[in-house]
Amino acid sequence: MTPGELGKLTDWFAGEIVRPDDPGYDSARAVWNSMIDRRPALIVRPTGTDDVVAALRFARQQELLIAVRCGGHSIPGFSTCDDGIVIDLSRMRGAEVDPARRTARVRGGSVLADLDDAAQAHRLVCPVGVVSHTGVAGLTLGGGMGRLQRRFGLTIDSLLAVELVAADGRVVRASEAENPELFWGIRGAGANFGIVTWFEFHLHPFEGLVTHGTVTHPIERSEELAELYHELVEDGPDELWTSFGMAVGGDARGPVASVSVLHSGSSAAAERDLAGLRALDDPLEDSIESKPYLTSQRLFDAPMEWGQRFSMKSSFLASLPGGLVRDWADQVARVPDGAEGGFSVWAWGRAIAAVSEEDTAFTGRDAAFWAAAEIVWNNGALDDACRSWARAAADTAAPYASVGRYVNDVTEVGGDIARMIYGDAKYERLVALKREWDPDNVFRLNQNIRP
Ligand SMILES: Cc1cc2nc3c(=O)[nH]c(=O)nc-3n(C[C@H](O)[C@H](O)[C@H](O)COP(=O)(O)OP(=O)(O)OC[C@H]3O[C@@H](n4cnc5c(N)ncnc54)[C@H](O)[C@@H]3O)c2cc1C
Repeated sequence: MTPGELGKLTDWFAGEIVRPDDPGYDSARAVWNSMIDRRPALIVRPTGTDDVVAALRFARQQELLIAVRCGGHSIPGFSTCDDGIVIDLSRMRGAEVDPARRTARVRGGSVLADLDDAAQAHRLVCPVGVVSHTGVAGLTLGGGMGRLQRRFGLTIDSLLAVELVAADGRVVRASEAENPELFWGIRGAGANFGIVTWFEFHLHPFEGLVTHGTVTHPIERSEELAELYHELVEDGPDELWTSFGMAVGGDARGPVASVSVLHSGSSAAAERDLAGLRALDDPLEDSIESKPYLTSQRLFDAPMEWGQRFSMKSSFLASLPGGLVRDWADQVARVPDGAEGGFSVWAWGRAIAAVSEEDTAFTGRDAAFWAAAEIVWNNGALDDACRSWARAAADTAAPYASVGRYVNDVTEVGGDIARMIYGDAKYERLVALKREWDPDNVFRLNQNIRP
């Protein structure tokens, strides 16, 4: 790109511009998953909506491939590209809470910690994900799972409105009242329709003390633990989030089986509801204790820090049969040496299922469980072995899968993947929306709805 061409941007743009020969280029082009190593022609960091409009207009004039970045955690690397432009919103962070209305306005480049901290300062909460450096935008636009999901639903179920810069440079709002069809698509397929500069969320009263931790046993007890897990899922209150897991390597040592819980009811209720789980004798570890919610939200920040190599495959399950648990135990034994890998299962239902499947583009509310095989490693020589492990692990769960996939975990790219994520009917509805809002497919680095 010549200085003359770049001048067409700098005349209108107040933010930061990073080019390949600038000293900060290598850190600016890095994304969370270090499997992804791309070299954009330009990285721009807008300071506000006007800058986003200027960057988008410039990119379209120059016919540059556009990647949009919030927290940079896209597992397949959608928020970067080779040779194109990255519109990196990391200078557009922050959340403003209106305690009287119980709402938060959150800037389009914020991370979960920005929203969590601002809401908890008023004893309020928005249900979001479990690692505080994840971006609010990518997480919300795909759905948003987290430890409060059975009580307050997915993150999109608390979304009231967005302001976005559309493909043609217009700044528009979407909510139930304004552009309602766009608002439907934003909630589950949102990375396809524009660059969101503001989110507005409904917040829920939340004192902020929770009972959280993990009970860990040797993997030989996985079926017994899975039985207990089923009881917790069936009998526990909406305030109880539970995850069943099996893993080996890293901090998990192992191989081990575990149940993690976060109970957001009173400590007396938590003690009562968790007594059966904690009574199972001789755990390797029982870390369940009372702690501030904000502490829980940061517990996995360090283990899930930037710069590791990562792959995952997830599905929604109609049930969690003993045969699958046994198959997973076999798969855990095959995690390559030097990697940390395993399975985790989160109970679905309750507040998630209380919203109709048709109300949002997100697909899969009727599932009983979300399940994922995840593997983390640092040595590039293990890339092929670790990716093959994740593929084989996903195949194990395939016979039990129900409709839909969680778009934010899907690492396969291209082909008919988006149709598989949303199902035929929703996919067609999304195509109509894409034709209206982005007929030239300007926003295509995502699980793409082809116009
Ligand atoms: C460590 C880790 C923990 C995770 N934990 C959870 C969890 O608890 N719950 C959960 O539901 N998911 C979780 N995820 C998955 C996560 O939701 C997705 O990776 C999500 O896409 C990350 O959002 P981001 O803003 O950080 O990503 P980015 O890579 O910045 O963006 C992801 C996608 O969103 C688009 N995008 C980004 N910003 C905007 C914007 N402002 N407007 C329009 N499009 C935009 C990008 O173009 C890209 O397609 C986790 C992922 C990781 C790596």
